[in-house]
Amino acid sequence: MVDSYTESSEGKEAEERLRLSELRHRFLADSASDVIWTMALDGHITSISPAVEKVRGLTSEEAMGQSLDQILTTDSGLKVAAYLTEVNEDAKTGRRPKSFRGDLEYYRKDGSTFWTEVLAYPLIGSDGSVVEIVGVTRDINDRKHYERRLEQARAAAEVANRALAASNRALAVANAKLQRMATTDALTGIANRRHFEEMVESEMARARRYDEHVSLIMFDIDHFKAINDRFGHLAGDRTLVELAHLVSLHLRAVDMLARWGGEEFMVMMPYCRAADALKAAERLRKLIADYAFPEVAKVTVSLGVTELHPDEPCENALKRVDDAMYQAKAAGRDTLCLIDGRDAAT
Ligand code: GH3
Ligand code: MG
Ligand code: MG
Repeated sequence: MVDSYTESSEGKEAEERLRLSELRHRFLADSASDVIWTMALDGHITSISPAVEKVRGLTSEEAMGQSLDQILTTDSGLKVAAYLTEVNEDAKTGRRPKSFRGDLEYYRKDGSTFWTEVLAYPLIGSDGSVVEIVGVTRDINDRKHYERRLEQARAAAEVANRALAASNRALAVANAKLQRMATTDALTGIANRRHFEEMVESEMARARRYDEHVSLIMFDIDHFKAINDRFGHLAGDRTLVELAHLVSLHLRAVDMLARWGGEEFMVMMPYCRAADALKAAERLRKLIADYAFPEVAKVTVSLGVTELHPDEPCENALKRVDDAMYQAKAAGRDTLCLIDGRDAAT
């Protein structure tokens, strides 16, 4: 008697606990804003919470009557089908099935789509078999939308950055070209007069500071007018280019060659005294006189040489080397003349 009373009261208590548990779960499912559902292993929905109406516009009854391809877009449906296959395989082989977590795209009643985050979990019966799948679907459309906008903004920023980098590169190239144009002579490609003057100024400042010697050589093509007249102006141009190239190949790396104008050239020689500059000038004279120019065969130059005085204005030295060059012309051309800057400045 006592035993059967106990058994029946225990059975009642268990029933009551089950009833309360069901009530509790129903309340949670009915009041949650996420959609809570259960699914059979063949993929059909066996129960679904009322929140489905808010997110999909379908009543629970309508939603339960739908097949997977009516619920989910093709890609999302394939993901779920793959998961169900996996769960069924696991059930067959006795492996414990895994839960599912992923983003799925659902259809609304009106045919539009929206993104959700889904968590599904296989319910295992006391005999170890998979009874059903219970899942929670959360509408994350706003978040997805925001993420997509963020991604678009990021991609747009990247495109803009790339364009900016490209235009910066183009600007740097253009600047380098401008700089080159501003400092070089268009015909010969060597330094132009303005750049040469700037370099002489800065070299003189250095020479003053470190008590160094800097010399200048100026040279002018002899009877260039006659060369032009005889071989043509274009042949004359090409001779200027050839001459500039020839001389630059025979200077030291620290020397600087510039086109002073017309058929006049200047060489600045840092770390070089007048006597050494004179020797260098003679080598240049001979180099040019002996060189067979392709179109005009023979060219000679007259050269002036001077050493800079560190304390004199730059123009003085330039004037002096010009005077020296004219003295060489007066002396019969194809020759050189030195005016020593150290003496002249005092
Ligand atoms: P000198 O021995 O006294 O220097 O005689 P020259 O004929 O060289 O001197 P002049 O000053 O009488 O003439 C210089 C010539 O150089 C005239 C000019 O047409 C030519 N010339 C100047 N610049 C260029 C150039 O860029 N290309 C060409 N082909 N000729 C030039
Ligand atoms: Mg000349
Ligand atoms: Mg001249």
